[in-house]
Amino acid sequence: MLGLMQDRPLLISQLLEYAAIYHPKVEIVSKTVEGPTHRSNYAEIHRRAKRAAKALAALGIVMGDRVATLAWNGYRHFELYYGISGMGAVCHTVNPRLFPEQIAYIANHAEDKALFFDLTFLPLVEKLAPQLKSVRHWVLMTDRAHMPKASSVPNLLCYEELLAAQSEDYAWPSFDERTASSLCYTSGTTGNPKGVLYAHRSTVLHSFAVCMGDTLALSSRDSVLVVVPMFHANAWGLVYAAPMCGAKLVLPGPHLDGPSVHAQIEAERCTMSAGVPTVWLALLNYLTETGKRIDTVKKFVIGGSAAPRSMIETFQEKYGAYVIHAWGMTEMSPLGTTGMLKPAMYDWPVQKRLDIQQKQGRAVYGVDMKIVDDEGREMPRDGKAFGRLLVRGPWITSGYFKGEGGSVIDREDWFDTGDVATLDADGFMQITDRSKDVIKSGGEWISSIDLENAAVGHADVKEACVIGIKHPKWQERPLLLVIRRPGTALDRAGMLKYLEGKVAKWWMPDDVVFVDELPHTATGKLLKAKLREEYADYKLPTA
Ligand code: AMP
Repeated sequence: MLGLMQDRPLLISQLLEYAAIYHPKVEIVSKTVEGPTHRSNYAEIHRRAKRAAKALAALGIVMGDRVATLAWNGYRHFELYYGISGMGAVCHTVNPRLFPEQIAYIANHAEDKALFFDLTFLPLVEKLAPQLKSVRHWVLMTDRAHMPKASSVPNLLCYEELLAAQSEDYAWPSFDERTASSLCYTSGTTGNPKGVLYAHRSTVLHSFAVCMGDTLALSSRDSVLVVVPMFHANAWGLVYAAPMCGAKLVLPGPHLDGPSVHAQIEAERCTMSAGVPTVWLALLNYLTETGKRIDTVKKFVIGGSAAPRSMIETFQEKYGAYVIHAWGMTEMSPLGTTGMLKPAMYDWPVQKRLDIQQKQGRAVYGVDMKIVDDEGREMPRDGKAFGRLLVRGPWITSGYFKGEGGSVIDREDWFDTGDVATLDADGFMQITDRSKDVIKSGGEWISSIDLENAAVGHADVKEACVIGIKHPKWQERPLLLVIRRPGTALDRAGMLKYLEGKVAKWWMPDDVVFVDELPHTATGKLLKAKLREEYADYKLPTA
């Protein structure tokens, strides 16, 4: 027997419509590319999103068409998120930090019909335009005053003029909640990027999850500085979840340096923010240099890569801001786990509490999670055994766009995250490595991430990276690559001495190489595949 509840579709347009009715005056504050800070609110953004939807229809965009954005976090990008998906098209957020050839590949693969872009990216788009075969409409996200006198981009349109030409008289269409809403390509450390195609249903369910008290506890009392880019996994879902609960949004544009982040936190009395460790490192350095504080901030969400223990400790103990360590993937919309402590843990001594907070957190309701060995056998949740991390749930991908990469889930819907992790009895998950980065030494696994974390604990180490090097006896052994802090003279012996006692004896790197820089992906992750290639013939001293 089926229940008798209404089968109303979950649609992205409803999120913004709700905010416009119940939180009309809540602000959306943006640092614009053009210069000034722009202030708007949910009511106005909703009206403009409707104009954007109508403008798209006027350009001939229909349901299912891909419409690309190449833009920073700002109000125009925000209203496009809703205008594009709301009218049934697919909002394809393109990461401008990718190599131009990758952007061209992605836009062609997605068959984008239109491209909306910020002024910053005009030179890039001018260069790329001849290669983007499917794009029919090129829209510069600015007003007439900032339009270039001339451009090689064909029929360049002005965003504000497109909106001005439309009225706000528009009713969001209703359609199947499983309709594709947005598209984001993973930056992948190997091979071509692959498209993750989100749906209205998955996005709305994910937004509920983001707001939950034990997830990110987003609410109408929050003023959220969205540091994580809207071109990377939907800004971790914050730009969908904020209108659901009426949170104020502060969109920083390209200004992510320490002084700018601090200034925005102060000016907008931000209560929370979310981003990758690199940004927080810059903020913490700025706070140390200036003695300034961030007293309005109650919580920082840190993810994308592991939050260093010292960062968690400093935010909490020195600045009184709670750190929610979070883990997820583009393929997961992206939220998988968040590090909200269980009640008793708040009373634990600081170092014991940090042991837990250093882990990536507990599964959010809706995400099933398990670890398995190479044969697919489930491993114990004892906080020690580590295995491949598998997930499934309603906001997790079932396959890449256009079937790229073949089948990615098994018969029971389990998706292999490519991460290696432990799960403890309280449900806290800890990433120990990417499965392709884990070092297999004598049949046992060594976590390259644990070694890196230990190495960066040394005051003279700016960045560290560990890769496996072929070894005649052990199959693979760890090599530690280190960037020293400027003006320091750390050497091999000093580094190894420091690691003694901090990592298992058989995990000790066989060698240490000091380098000036390390390669990163467009989303800031270490490009270990490239380093493995570079050091393929490296001779370890003990080999
Ligand atoms: P992306 O899809 O680009 O967001 O990358 C997802 C990958 O980033 C995950 O599979 C992890 O390897 C890594 N990642 C994300 N969050 C964390 C975290 N908190 N700690 C360690 N690795 C993380």
